Amino acid sequence: MAAPSTDRERQIREAGELLGTERHRSLAKGLFFGRLDHELAFPYPGLLPAEAEGFPALLEQIRTFLREEVDPVRIDREARVPDEVTSRLFDLGVMTMSIPREYGGLGLSQFAYCRIMQEIGAVDGSLAVLVNVHQGIGVRSLLLFGTPEQQADWLPRLVEGRVLSAFALTEPNAGSDAGGIETFAVPAPDGKHYVLNGRKQWITNGGIAGLLTVMAKVPGTQDERGRERITAFLVTPDMPGFQVVDRAMEKLGIRGTWTAKLAFHDLKVPAENIIGPPGKGLRVALTLLDYGRTTFGATCTGAALRCLRDSVAHCRTRRQFGKPLIEFDLVKKKLARMAAWSYAMESATGLTAGLIDRGAEEYMLETAMLKVFASEALWEILNDTIQLFGGRAYFTDLPYERMLRDARLNQIGEGANDVLRNFIALVGMRDVGLTLKDMVDGLKAPLTGLGRVADFARRHLPGQDTVQVPVRSWELGDLARLHGELIQEFGRAVEGQLIRKREGVLEAQYDLARIADAGTQLYLLTAVLARLDAMLAADAAPTPEGRRELRSGRYFAALAERSVRASLRELGDSLDQTTTAVADGL
Ligand SMILES: Cc1cc2nc3c(=O)[nH]c(=O)nc-3n(C[C@H](O)[C@H](O)[C@H](O)COP(=O)(O)OP(=O)(O)OC[C@H]3O[C@@H](n4cnc5c(N)ncnc54)[C@H](O)[C@@H]3O)c2cc1C
Repeated sequence: MAAPSTDRERQIREAGELLGTERHRSLAKGLFFGRLDHELAFPYPGLLPAEAEGFPALLEQIRTFLREEVDPVRIDREARVPDEVTSRLFDLGVMTMSIPREYGGLGLSQFAYCRIMQEIGAVDGSLAVLVNVHQGIGVRSLLLFGTPEQQADWLPRLVEGRVLSAFALTEPNAGSDAGGIETFAVPAPDGKHYVLNGRKQWITNGGIAGLLTVMAKVPGTQDERGRERITAFLVTPDMPGFQVVDRAMEKLGIRGTWTAKLAFHDLKVPAENIIGPPGKGLRVALTLLDYGRTTFGATCTGAALRCLRDSVAHCRTRRQFGKPLIEFDLVKKKLARMAAWSYAMESATGLTAGLIDRGAEEYMLETAMLKVFASEALWEILNDTIQLFGGRAYFTDLPYERMLRDARLNQIGEGANDVLRNFIALVGMRDVGLTLKDMVDGLKAPLTGLGRVADFARRHLPGQDTVQVPVRSWELGDLARLHGELIQEFGRAVEGQLIRKREGVLEAQYDLARIADAGTQLYLLTAVLARLDAMLAADAAPTPEGRRELRSGRYFAALAERSVRASLRELGDSLDQTTTAVADGL
């Protein structure tokens, strides 16, 4: 039986209040409303006109360097990136790619940056993380949040001095729950300094960086949960009180990177080293991680495409039972999924980078979706690659065991995937909750609220307001219709969850994960359609490579449809209670 309308209104109001008040438009958020803000995805982005001419030559130089001067086996065995390799990364401009030209960097767009990271990711996981931490989340704090004075002061020094940077958030008692950090920055009596005390752990480049963005709490600045607010500080290792407890902890993969434990003992940091707004350190951290997560998409794509290429070549030549492996259906199934997922992750990396380049209002959902999908897809792809290579992949003369070890971090670092799933679902649903609240308010004030109520009603009448996916090619017409239908189904499911669960939505992790997974597939499918459409629009008679892309993209759409429908069908699954009972009884 339907809840009485006053109850329903209260439920909707409470859900809206719980989910916050700020509203920003984004491509992924639109999906949660059951709509496609297609102008954010179509036409599919690319290099900026100013960089298009010189970029192929730069990319070729980097490829040659990776092929001829990088030895991933040595990096893994010796657990260090040789100095000459780091030095060449600076020579080539890779370590200053995102720094504007006026400060001596290459000033590349995020799209171009990701294209280069894709090449690096295909060759070596350690190099990929080294560059990502330095460019993606280290120096990026200055680029995004530095005042003009801070930028003019630091950036030329970083470029000329070939200084590595790091990002220090994680602590022994604060991993996923970044708000729980226990490093404190107490304002000094002179009013010109802060005194930092605390510990940081697992900080990539932490023991070798010349500049660190460090997150610390400033006492006396409480948030709504009564916890001190976090502020970001620029710290250099020459500041008295900076201790490297362990410069390079032994670890499973990306062994060439150096992951440090640090301690701060009455470390005096000048007040002008605050980076970003005081008390907004979490916002600074989340924004930096948006960039880092886009890079994960690029590096995972590089590794996935390499697995695909190698696996196809192997399965064509390896014969068993009198024929090449590629002739067995179960081998084909693995290869086809690899092709579809690699194409989708490459497409979503480009789309997400393009959103950043065009200065979109917000892209935190998109970067989180990309990171979750790409890191999990690569894990599966590596697993399948190892299966297809059989016993020989188990040995260290082939790269796949190393790639598997390197890839494991992707699902943990820069936001553990399940934490990101929660984040995706809750942030995505928040604005829908607020709009439902508006709708209730509209019912109470019919004259001013009529527009909002009409909007709501329109979306709920069958056949009204179908979602338009503006593909230009007739070859994509059926996929565009399917995508539109799936987006509508998803929007209705999101609304249903909010109305049914009220405040309980915050804790409903089983269903939040299903919503996040369905939304993620739809974002990926948007990217695939936009990219295929651009390819077909540019070339009415695609090359064999274009045809392969079309087949991979279409197959991704079919897999995504199944995945979205399965996630939505399983909402409220009765097995969830049993799952809880089993776990609680352990
Ligand atoms: C090699 C390496 C390099 C790193 N480099 C850096 C760096 O440069 N700078 C930096 O600041 N940090 C760095 N980190 C830390 C990294 O960001 C953290 O490991 C990550 O944020 C997760 O925190 P945690 O490991 O403490 O896991 P925890 O927070 O303890 O979580 C463990 C698991 O618990 C589950 N879980 C936790 N919370 C939830 C929830 N709300 N809902 C559902 N499940 C949940 C998830 O399965 C999660 O994977 C690095 C880590 C590694 C391993």
